[in-house]
Amino acid sequence: MKVWILIGPPGAGKGTQGDLLKERLPIHKLSTGDVLRKHIEAETTLGRQVKSIMAEGKLVSDEILLALVAAELAEVQGQDVLLDGYPRTVAQADALEGLGVSVAQVIYLAVDESALVRRLTGRRLCPSCKRIYHIEASPPQLAGHCDYCVDTALIQREDDQEERIWTRLAIYEKETAPVLAYYRVKGLCQEVKAEGEVENIYAKVASIFLQEQSVIK
Ligand SMILES: [Zn+2]
Repeated sequence: MKVWILIGPPGAGKGTQGDLLKERLPIHKLSTGDVLRKHIEAETTLGRQVKSIMAEGKLVSDEILLALVAAELAEVQGQDVLLDGYPRTVAQADALEGLGVSVAQVIYLAVDESALVRRLTGRRLCPSCKRIYHIEASPPQLAGHCDYCVDTALIQREDDQEERIWTRLAIYEKETAPVLAYYRVKGLCQEVKAEGEVENIYAKVASIFLQEQSVIK
């Protein structure tokens, strides 16, 4: 089994690119956010634990996250895995290495800070069908309203408000940017300029994946 890591600041398009890779290539996507939601919804012991931690406004501990990742990796033995949202810190990267998994490549989605802020502050969400719009890149037909639920006004998530974005970017710089340095010294970091069309970015990301595949096989 080989593990791929998708890394980048908030708004770099990790979710979009990860979904495309999962759809089009033989790779299993493991998003820690999705796994946490799955446990909470299924009301597993861990899910109940996580729910109460989050209800107190606290962060899920590294121990819990590592246990989750280890369990998911064990379940998909033999498949290539794409990690999204993990490791977020150098401590987590160390813990992942402790599991004995081999990291094939870290794909870094690089975007200028000003482009990120524009991308995130322009995002609008339909509270009813959860579709995402962007006031510049993919505006609804009628400004401020969902194309599918015409009576519903679009909203901006709190996380996408400018002040919150700067906080998220500062956390990323402090905690996650060092993860890139960690893999860079191991020669495991490939940078993709993640600006422009989604399909063009995907082509670059996929080519790294396919190249590495043919080298390994
Ligand atoms: Zn809608």
